[in-house]
Amino acid sequence: MRKCKICNEGNFERVEDIVLEIEGHVMLLKGERCNKCGEEFPYEHETQKAINAARRIGIWPEPLKLQRHLSKSGGGLILRIPSDIEKQFNLNENVPIAISKVGSKIVIEPQE
Ligand SMILES: [Zn+2]
Repeated sequence: MRKCKICNEGNFERVEDIVLEIEGHVMLLKGERCNKCGEEFPYEHETQKAINAARRIGIWPEPLKLQRHLSKSGGGLILRIPSDIEKQFNLNENVPIAISKVGSKIVIEPQE
């Protein structure tokens, strides 16, 4: 039994119900939990499995940040949506889009 490094009092116990919630999807992971402070450590391969599963269904909140330049067309500016975002959000020219200003950010929301 391993001693907990967080509280230095409890011991880690094997558990199979560490809850990982990603955007409303709940996954249960195997790992260890301290019987004193409750700190949870899912096993590395379990975490990886959950990440892979989440990516497959497209819910892992990846830090998507891409540098893009705007192009000019007919007096307006055009932003090209990266193809991986296009696929993830099932975008096409018929999907209505809402554009809003949130502080210093521009938020683009598909309406379907
Ligand atoms: Zn502990």
